[in-house]
Amino acid sequence: MLVLKFGGTSVGTAERFAGVLKLLSKVEERNESAVIVLSAMSGVTNTLIEGAQRAVNRDLKGALQQLAVIRDMHEQCVENLFVKSKSSMQLLKDIEVSLHELDILFRGISYLGELTKRSLDAVSGMGELLSSRILATYAAGKGLQVEWVDAREFMITDEAFGKANPRWGILIPKTKARLEPLLAKKKLVITQGFIGATEYGASTTLGRGGSDFSASIIGVALDASEIQIWTDVDGMMTADPRIVKGAYVLPEVSFQEASELAYFGAKVLHPLTIAPAVEKCIPVRILNTMRPDAPGTLIKETTSATDLICAIAAKKGISAFFITSPRMLMVHGFLTRVFEVFDKHQTPIDLISTSEISVSLTTDRTDNLEKIAADLAEYGEVRILSKIAIVTVVGRQFREKSGIAGQVFDAIRNINIIMISGGASDINLSFVVSEEEADIAMRQLHEAFFAPVRV
Ligand code: ADP
Ligand code: ASP
Ligand code: MG
Repeated sequence: MLVLKFGGTSVGTAERFAGVLKLLSKVEERNESAVIVLSAMSGVTNTLIEGAQRAVNRDLKGALQQLAVIRDMHEQCVENLFVKSKSSMQLLKDIEVSLHELDILFRGISYLGELTKRSLDAVSGMGELLSSRILATYAAGKGLQVEWVDAREFMITDEAFGKANPRWGILIPKTKARLEPLLAKKKLVITQGFIGATEYGASTTLGRGGSDFSASIIGVALDASEIQIWTDVDGMMTADPRIVKGAYVLPEVSFQEASELAYFGAKVLHPLTIAPAVEKCIPVRILNTMRPDAPGTLIKETTSATDLICAIAAKKGISAFFITSPRMLMVHGFLTRVFEVFDKHQTPIDLISTSEISVSLTTDRTDNLEKIAADLAEYGEVRILSKIAIVTVVGRQFREKSGIAGQVFDAIRNINIIMISGGASDINLSFVVSEEEADIAMRQLHEAFFAPVRV
């Protein structure tokens, strides 16, 4: 059994839907059972969020304009994909039902002047419901044996709206009960990525880019033989190809390498995608919807690759805390107290670096920075630096080989390094630079370790 996830650009236009259909036809021809996990059409989630934000700012007109953009996009897509028929008329009606729901949500948000994470999830998950309905109707019209399933029937999460976590104990039996009978009947199941529901039926989302995570959750729940992430690039590459023109595809990457790269900014995979797959050792393959015959990248337990450096990633929008406490750093329990502050504000720490009298930490959350600083002030002098970036070099056996740090820092000797963190794992060397310098650092590192880049 396969799980195939198609990202936003893979269903960005009517033409792309047709491309996805070709791939699904091949799956059916091979008599393979599969669950298809769909993202919203490219740009739709952002438009939905923008609409909700306009609504809460009492700009209802602006919110409804966003709704009109979404209506146009989906209606246009249906118009281009279908000749007018009973099923296409029904599809337009179904789309209208979701859009009407959105209209009510925007009016409610605007009227109350309040946008909770919970109501934002009800809005932002709508794009996946729309795109998956279009694909299911289109595929059925072309004679494929498909079944559309609302992911909220089985993707049960906790109540961490905006970044919900799977509740495995409930989710696994529900996913099996809902999807296995359909797969047994050789139906291609079409469902949504990104969205889920609490045990009591409130809509949740798994966080931005979360459809990859949905795919791996479903793959694990159903013991899939492979999880395929279909996207707009040929695979996982040596760097983000939008930043480094000479980046190239890696044929194989280990689970650990892929996790580090995803966590530290390789957007091609949501950071949480790999962890569930590791548990059941399910291979994850990244493939290009626009070039389906390209081999892609296979992510599995281990690889035979021996190159010193695997890839480079960068994560922007980071903030760092610098805590200086001449009296306390070496005092027993000091770090515990610092961590407790971050825990209290539910803010994860990415990197940490210590000296005798100070400790530096980074986070990618921006919601509670001032509150954290106020609480930390009890333990020392606190400085926050925002708009910085983590650049990460992922490689192999860093602890056993000498000279790697030297080569890395020599390649970026013109760049101001704010903080360094290495040695936490054998395959990761991370450092912090200003956001403006992150792209330059990536290009210079790529040039030093891989083929020359065209900038
Ligand atoms: P989707 O809509 O299919 O989920 P995303 O935009 O989320 O696609 O992810 C694909 C994008 O990730 C690519 O277009 C590419 O610019 C970016 N990316 C960042 N780092 C990498 C990397 N190391 N390898 C491949 N793509 C990367
Ligand atoms: N549509 C969602 C987003 O844009 C989820 C995804 O595409 O993975 O974040
Ligand atoms: Mg994505």
